[in-house]
Amino acid sequence: MAKRDYYEVLGVSKNATPDELKKAYRKLALQYHPDRNPGDKEAEEKFKEAAEAYDVLSNPDKKARYDQFGHAAFDGAAGGGAGMNMNDIFSQFGDIFSDFFGGGGFRGFGGFSGGQQGRARAARRGTNLRIKVKLTLEEIEKGCEKKIKVAKYVPCKTCGGSGARNNNFETCPHCHGAGVVTEVRRTILGQMQTQSVCPHCGGEGRIIKDKCHDCNGEGIVRAEEVITINIPAGVYDGMQLSMSGKGNAAPHGGVSGDLIILVEEIPHDLFERQETNLYYNAFITFAQAAMGATIEIPTLTGRVKVKIDPGTPSGKVLRLKGKGLPEVNGYGRGDLLVQLNVWIPRSLSREEKETLARLDKSPNFQPTPSKAERGFFDKMKDLFN
Ligand SMILES: [Zn+2]
Ligand SMILES: [Zn+2]
Repeated sequence: MAKRDYYEVLGVSKNATPDELKKAYRKLALQYHPDRNPGDKEAEEKFKEAAEAYDVLSNPDKKARYDQFGHAAFDGAAGGGAGMNMNDIFSQFGDIFSDFFGGGGFRGFGGFSGGQQGRARAARRGTNLRIKVKLTLEEIEKGCEKKIKVAKYVPCKTCGGSGARNNNFETCPHCHGAGVVTEVRRTILGQMQTQSVCPHCGGEGRIIKDKCHDCNGEGIVRAEEVITINIPAGVYDGMQLSMSGKGNAAPHGGVSGDLIILVEEIPHDLFERQETNLYYNAFITFAQAAMGATIEIPTLTGRVKVKIDPGTPSGKVLRLKGKGLPEVNGYGRGDLLVQLNVWIPRSLSREEKETLARLDKSPNFQPTPSKAERGFFDKMKDLFN
């Protein structure tokens, strides 16, 4: 079968930029990817054809030779685009696939074109990083941005995270690049095949020939990084937020872990919180309670004026609608519940005592509780049942 023109295969012009080439190849690779076309021999051929074309055209050297001599440039020569097998394709262009398959780098490739070893170069994952963020109720009420310095693993700049000096790798001699080893055992039921991650290369399919000195071959180094965290309004103590990919970088260019942010609420001087509601204990004078008054109540967003009716009993609770905290998902708000406590003087002058004694004789000062106010035992029963 005569080979098709590589430009024609990718559907690009002779002056296509590296980016255009990559895009064109990605499109085809995705379309004909064996995971999407299981058992389809034609798709497999197209997949290989596209990889071959991209292999040549994305390499300036090979491209120049191809432009001059066409397919003849690679006839019989090693290192041409010819005869790529699946392992070559996945090891060479892994970064292209990693984008569409969840960023996990290579994925398993089992059950494809019988006999061929599944490619299972395991992308290592960075560990999650956990930090605590302390927040005031004011910050929780509005939501806020926090810049936090964290010590973590970042990709090594010297080797680009690969761990190899000058990208000096060799195919793992133990698994021949497959990343997995197959063991055949005889059992009473017949032969059993088990596959496991290659212990020699840790599933990567390749080993470092020359270690990067800066990271000792790990591909990651410790560094401090300032991370900007957007805290949504309404979060609560003990809540965990996570930022994917902001944790520790993975060895050898794998996927970074997540940053887990544990919310810690700093207790407020004035308010107690219960879910989205806030509670505030206000103290008013006997005269204010008896005659009515306008008092100021603090809220998280500033002081508000509140009217107290004449004859307000001690312990009465006012509800300031919407002055609590927002729901964390953005719908609705809690209230600020204000309990009015009549302040009883702790000491009195002689003159005050005389005045009070006089007032105390007035019928208006004699307790005349309503039934509800007398319902002490009912309330106690509610409390203890
Ligand atoms: Zn390095
Ligand atoms: Zn190996």
